[in-house]
Amino acid sequence: MPLADPVALTSELVRFETVNPPGEERACAQRIGQLLEAAGFTVAYYEFETGRTSLVARLDGSGEGPPICFTGHIDVVPLGRAAWSRDPFAGERDGDRLFGRGTTDMKAALAAIILAATRLASLPRKTGIELVFTAGEETRCEGSHHLAAQPGALGEAGAIVIGEPTANVPLVGHKGLVRYLIKTTGVTAHASMPEEGDNAIHKIAEVVRRLERFAFGVAEHPVMGSPTLNIGTITGGLNINSVPDEAEIGVDIRTIPGQTAEGIQDRLKTALGGEATVTNIASEDSVVTDAGDAWVQEVYDVMEPLLGQRPEPATAVYFTDGSVLKPAYGGPPTVILGPGEPTCAHKTDEYCSVAKLESSTEAYLEIMRRWCGV
Ligand SMILES: [Zn+2]
Repeated sequence: MPLADPVALTSELVRFETVNPPGEERACAQRIGQLLEAAGFTVAYYEFETGRTSLVARLDGSGEGPPICFTGHIDVVPLGRAAWSRDPFAGERDGDRLFGRGTTDMKAALAAIILAATRLASLPRKTGIELVFTAGEETRCEGSHHLAAQPGALGEAGAIVIGEPTANVPLVGHKGLVRYLIKTTGVTAHASMPEEGDNAIHKIAEVVRRLERFAFGVAEHPVMGSPTLNIGTITGGLNINSVPDEAEIGVDIRTIPGQTAEGIQDRLKTALGGEATVTNIASEDSVVTDAGDAWVQEVYDVMEPLLGQRPEPATAVYFTDGSVLKPAYGGPPTVILGPGEPTCAHKTDEYCSVAKLESSTEAYLEIMRRWCGV
């Protein structure tokens, strides 16, 4: 079957319901693999759980030099509570807008990558390309972590394009994240005799006050700015007529390059004193590439006429598989660039601009052509 245009292919991919949880990416991954195999790619599938399928597709070049990697995730987020005014799994078009869960984040980009790559496959080229389509990105990047842990699953990459929604504006990275549970303990007693107990909630309140003044002790990053800290949860106490003997908060920190989970944990312990225990429960690296990098400038050259102005160094507010894939490939220059509307991601009545989808397909092909020496 001949390949559809990017709008038809995006609609087809949207019709595979890959809402995560539970994910169920296998059927969509197999359809992508079938299209790429027909164009001459070698395709391998990897499942981190039954039906949770990522794929890696390779196309060789005739000469030396590492391939360029294009990547995107197959899963989409749940629909949310509000009713949709369109069928979220139909991929309906209305003027410039293509509606559906995952149009913006990020099946439009998958379609653009697939079509650009299949066109490249019919051209002579010196270097190859490697396409990585992951399962489970929206939860904790399980698919990319699984690929990175499988010897040989990922080949080489001299540069990476992550197709997350940027409205076709190339971005040079994003913050990382670390999360901690911070707990205080005390001694329970009857509420009528609080002096006999030791109140864990009073202690966690002091922790919260200290965190409001917490200083990371790092210089502002020229593009990303400063790290942030948010206390997102608080629990403590079992009943109102007892002195609570345990209280806990959940803290989410968005990091800039140079910060580590261990370094921040040490700093938290010093700031909070001995009364609180700090447990690290999640950590993902920030991603950054110098905007002065020659290849990043070449991406800017490709995008400048499409955008009507030269891109400025900027980073994404969200998190991507790049935290896993960039280090797994040895840290090549990486840009986040995709046709989706960043303001539409994860929302009710999510849509993608058809014009941006079409121009991103051309832009991806041009980025591939320049890298591969076509
Ligand atoms: Zn996404």
